Amino acid sequence: MEIRGHHFLCMLGFRGLGYDEKFVKNMDEIIRKLNNEQDMLIKVVDNVDNICAMCPNNVDGECKIENYPGSVREKDRAILEVLGIEVGEILSYKKIINRIREKMTEEKMRDICRDCEWFSLGYCLEGLKKLKGGV
Ligand code: SF4
Repeated sequence: MEIRGHHFLCMLGFRGLGYDEKFVKNMDEIIRKLNNEQDMLIKVVDNVDNICAMCPNNVDGECKIENYPGSVREKDRAILEVLGIEVGEILSYKKIINRIREKMTEEKMRDICRDCEWFSLGYCLEGLKKLKGGV
């Protein structure tokens, strides 16, 4: 499975919302799978991944909102830098989740994610707080 950097935080906040029905179903299945099989190895990327596979913004294997300042690709890289994970690295989902628990903070997440269309819902930040044991 391949997952891009920023999607690790999106998954924490997922509550059944998304771009369309196909996207939501796919994301829901991926999250369930990863939660049930936390030893599964993930290749961490900064381009389209298994979640993007069903996204209407994915045009010919490239995300329409990937390449501009503040884009999702910059978010991928900023988040991976905080987590100390290189693009292309392969590690278990459990390790990645532990890294988020240890290294990601609410402040850093706000800085990186504040202009995302989903961030203002507050779900992602609540997901992080829950992971860190604060909720
Ligand atoms: S908007 Fe882009 S990064 Fe987000 S799921 Fe769709 S294709 Fe992937």
